[in-house]
Amino acid sequence: MNISIPRYGDGADVIGLPARAMVFSNSERSTAACPLKWLFAYGDGLKPQNRSAPMALGTAMHACVEDVHNWWRAKGTAYPGDGSACVWCVGIAADCSQCGSTGEGPVSLTLAEWTAHSLSSEDYTWDQATEDAEHLSRMFGGWLHVYGRNPHPDYRVIAPEMKMAVPVVGPGGTPYAPRTWVVPTSTGWRVAQTGEASTEGAKAVRWPWYQVLTVDALMQDRRTGDVYLYECKTSSSPAGRLANVSVDPQMSGYCHAVQHLIRQGMIPGVAAYAVVRGYIYDVISSGSHAYPKTLKAVPVKALHPDTGEPYKNGRSWVYELDANGDQVERSPGLSMASNAGVSSWRYREAIHANGFDEADYADHLLDLMATVDPKLYVRDIATSGPEVSARYARELYAVAQQLSGYRKRSSEMKTAEDRDYQFPRQPVCIAGYGCAFRAPCLRDGDMVRSEYDAAESIQWNDRAESPQEETFKW
Ligand SMILES: [Zn+2]
Repeated sequence: MNISIPRYGDGADVIGLPARAMVFSNSERSTAACPLKWLFAYGDGLKPQNRSAPMALGTAMHACVEDVHNWWRAKGTAYPGDGSACVWCVGIAADCSQCGSTGEGPVSLTLAEWTAHSLSSEDYTWDQATEDAEHLSRMFGGWLHVYGRNPHPDYRVIAPEMKMAVPVVGPGGTPYAPRTWVVPTSTGWRVAQTGEASTEGAKAVRWPWYQVLTVDALMQDRRTGDVYLYECKTSSSPAGRLANVSVDPQMSGYCHAVQHLIRQGMIPGVAAYAVVRGYIYDVISSGSHAYPKTLKAVPVKALHPDTGEPYKNGRSWVYELDANGDQVERSPGLSMASNAGVSSWRYREAIHANGFDEADYADHLLDLMATVDPKLYVRDIATSGPEVSARYARELYAVAQQLSGYRKRSSEMKTAEDRDYQFPRQPVCIAGYGCAFRAPCLRDGDMVRSEYDAAESIQWNDRAESPQEETFKW
């Protein structure tokens, strides 16, 4: 297998992908709504530079959850770590592929990456790296607290982090294989970019189109053998994210792809008759997950020996004094601010760490359990079925046709005016908010483009030129 796909790497790792295939990802699909955005990202191959933010918090959290799922699959026992030390090699770090023989767990590995990034970045300090790692550690600790360290009683993990490809099929079951331009490289071919159909050696090929995707984990119902997908996300608004899932076709797509590959007998350890029943969607809040603030220490009022109450001497309160005759200062406790997003378990830890009495906070803890806890970690199990899968498959064909049209028009583009005729702006963004191509969208030019890197493109690293010889099975 010689195909190499940006962010998916070598096609050999992608289940179900033949060597001669044209591929697109969910990210490409998500740019399709705005033709100009697609052109910037995939036609011109502009890749936004990312100087200030290193590995995103969500990606780091993902690595932690993946480590747990790997453990459950390999050992079937309670996950013993907290992210700081490698759970796989405990003490014998030589030759450990999980931690690169560093002995570090996923949180510590992330911290190492963030601190290294801070050394070469002006906007990202060492302090920030440490703070981010603490944040990550609290997020992960909360996840372990809420869901527990034991493997799920109803589901076993069968495949964490699985990359796969699903063919695009048109009406009547024909594989979708439109003409697409490729250009020669020193070792093979790559997909043509804007205007490259006219370069020397370019040729149009008809390779079947596939969507590539990565599933966080596959789970199997221990009792029925039904398969579920597990997907983990980090969000500033977990409840909103969860509500959005039912509209977003992403999960239906995953179910469709997994069911297809199971039928082909391509998922190791899963019988070809197993049924994909739905998905487990796990959303983790990216909020601070902080401990409560300890209130500022104040002078302590002395209690009257007779009444046991604070009392005044003349017009002023009498305060406790220490052996030196200085006023004793003590914190009155933890802040009971209700909007700080502190979870009940963090609050309880802080009560005990400070030596306070839990009884004084009983009401507040109940309040946090009712209002804060359910918003931090949200999980839902949704079912999916053949109708959902079939609908997705039809939509996939429509999307592939749209992307194929973009590919063809961009590679055959001749003049700058063609761009406006064929790739109009479609402001699905709100004033460019959240779009990495806002700058060239407003005013394009060499200066603006120098702020971007060149994206890797899809490559086929061999010279064989007869795609029709490739046998294609559906
Ligand atoms: Zn290790």
